[in-house]
Amino acid sequence: MIRIKSWFPEKMRYEYLNDMLLKIGVDEKANKFTDTNEKKKFLKRFSILKRKYVEKIISQKEKDEYENTYLILKKEPNYEIMFLGSKPITLETLLTGTREKVIEEVDGIKEYMKLCRFMKNYSSGYSRAKFLKYLHDFYPDKVIYDGIGKKYQFEQNQDTITVSELQSNKKSVSDKMNPFYYFFFDIAEISPSDKTQKYSYKDFQDVVKKATNNIFNRTDLIKYDLISDDMRHKLLASLGIKCCPYCNRQYITSWEKDKQGVQSTADLDHFYQKSTYPLFALSLFNFVPSCQICNSRMKGSNETETLYPYEEGMDEFRFRCMPKDSGNDNLVDLWLASKTNEPNKLCGLYKLVLVDESDDHTDNKHIERINGSREVFCLDEVYQTHVDAAINEMLKIRIYYSGDYAKYACKTLEDLGIGKEDEKVVSNDDENAIDNKDKNRFSESEMRDIILGFVYNGQDKMDQPLGKLMSDILEYELSLKKSYNEKETE
Ligand SMILES: [Zn+2]
Repeated sequence: MIRIKSWFPEKMRYEYLNDMLLKIGVDEKANKFTDTNEKKKFLKRFSILKRKYVEKIISQKEKDEYENTYLILKKEPNYEIMFLGSKPITLETLLTGTREKVIEEVDGIKEYMKLCRFMKNYSSGYSRAKFLKYLHDFYPDKVIYDGIGKKYQFEQNQDTITVSELQSNKKSVSDKMNPFYYFFFDIAEISPSDKTQKYSYKDFQDVVKKATNNIFNRTDLIKYDLISDDMRHKLLASLGIKCCPYCNRQYITSWEKDKQGVQSTADLDHFYQKSTYPLFALSLFNFVPSCQICNSRMKGSNETETLYPYEEGMDEFRFRCMPKDSGNDNLVDLWLASKTNEPNKLCGLYKLVLVDESDDHTDNKHIERINGSREVFCLDEVYQTHVDAAINEMLKIRIYYSGDYAKYACKTLEDLGIGKEDEKVVSNDDENAIDNKDKNRFSESEMRDIILGFVYNGQDKMDQPLGKLMSDILEYELSLKKSYNEKETE
């Protein structure tokens, strides 16, 4: 919902990279032990020595042991991890690169992600027809589907297979499937032992099943549990944000406590699920601090495309608070009539809506992702509980900050001797601003702050729960302020 304007600071990225390079190396070595007890002992000794080393309470003998047994295992930043069989990515890029650097610039990553999505959906229990349907969904240019004839074709000049043929067991159909199988081997970088062999669907599935381990397990150096709690807290805190970027409703806070180090109430969300895209389980670009509700209860394993908070927010959509029955928006009258002691009565008459204010230049994909976020995080629904906050803000603006009230308030402040004696008042060009000729000493914007108090704008949206809601309401109400003023002076 709100764009995160910060990125992990350089010092933090460096610390994280070095910690991970060491842990990945040590973990790789540990996995070579055949004896589980030996392995446990090896890892336990590592964590003891590492702690002592970091806290600088290590003896010379232990230091030698640590350096000779463990530190030498540390991977180089340019160590290459292989994915999709033979495509390389360096650990430094994978662990600390931005999303753009990893997804846009590393050869094969987009293919890898497509394949991950495919494999997530694909199950070896699928029929040939279902397999082709998925293949078409992911590679529509290669696997062509003719909806009218209900037939599939591999590229333009190959034989076509109809869906009803696929359900039969004819030998000719089996043969026509082979180009699809080879295409799949190709994108997944699976090399079948015999490249001229004709496959039955069952044989094909067996090869894929075996190779799946290869496609993904080549990345078995990358494991989320290599991150310590302490490191996770530090990472989350280093972004310096105070509020969940997905919902903008919950505070996420960090604090430091002696001995326990940095703590945080934030969850670490994997923007790209680690079960679907195991390669990104330790990538900084994939870590989004979020509240627990958004991370586990809302997002879960939902695959709907949502806004990527480091790159985009939903600025084109604005919150409006409006009467439920599209009747007159006479909020002030309603408020006075409800005698203020029954706020629920008033809230029940209003609703919050997200209004699309995008224009022709707005990227359609961006709008789709906004709607994805609304759906996944149930934004339209959960925000209905905040009608009261919106109404409160609207009343303040319509009653206190419009019409004559602001003028009287300013005059009163002046009478009380509160003002800026020596400064020349610069009034806004707004014709309803407190005029200079009245010798009022506060400018329009100063009076606004005095009357409305804290005003949400810019980065504050991120720092304050409901920051976006409040700033959208404020902006809209201020745009209507002129008409309230006119109404007041009628
Ligand atoms: Zn949230």
